Amino acid sequence: MEFINGIQNKERSPIFDRQKYGGFWFGALIFGLAVVAAANIAGQNTETTESQVVDNAGAAKEIQIQGRIVCLAEVMHNLYRADLPANHEHLYGFETAEDVFYTLLRTDLSEALFVDERLHQRTLIITGRTFPKTHLLEAIRLQSLHDGVVHDLYYYCDTCAIRAAAPGDCVCCQAPVELVEKP
Ligand SMILES: [Zn+2]
Ligand SMILES: [Zn+2]
Repeated sequence: MEFINGIQNKERSPIFDRQKYGGFWFGALIFGLAVVAAANIAGQNTETTESQVVDNAGAAKEIQIQGRIVCLAEVMHNLYRADLPANHEHLYGFETAEDVFYTLLRTDLSEALFVDERLHQRTLIITGRTFPKTHLLEAIRLQSLHDGVVHDLYYYCDTCAIRAAAPGDCVCCQAPVELVEKP
């Protein structure tokens, strides 16, 4: 068996050598093409304008939607049996009147939607942006709807006449700011 293997190996060795050299030149060619391609991409990037970036990636879209805050984890569990751990952290999102779901980006302007449970009982109007190929919602303006009347939602310190986007202590006097719904 060893002898046969030896012959087979000898017979094969020239083929292996050709494959090895072929592989080397093929590899060198690919490497060369990669270098040229990389140089081209680098060249293009330096000349790419802002409009091209927007065209390539798609633009963020401004929207205004009406609906309510929901825990997406719970809704997806109820609708689709998505796994819901017993002690889950709420994943807050927005459900529109047309049953379209958005995941909320947590920002200074949207913080109130995460921490003020009073807002979870309201019909809300959110003005904001969504991003290409996502249903991620960046809230920029919050309003509530009572009896057909739109109210601006914000927090306010009467003492200092300072407005805030989220509940917490007044940046000036440190007293807690109050929720205001102004028609
Ligand atoms: Zn939840
Ligand atoms: Zn104050």
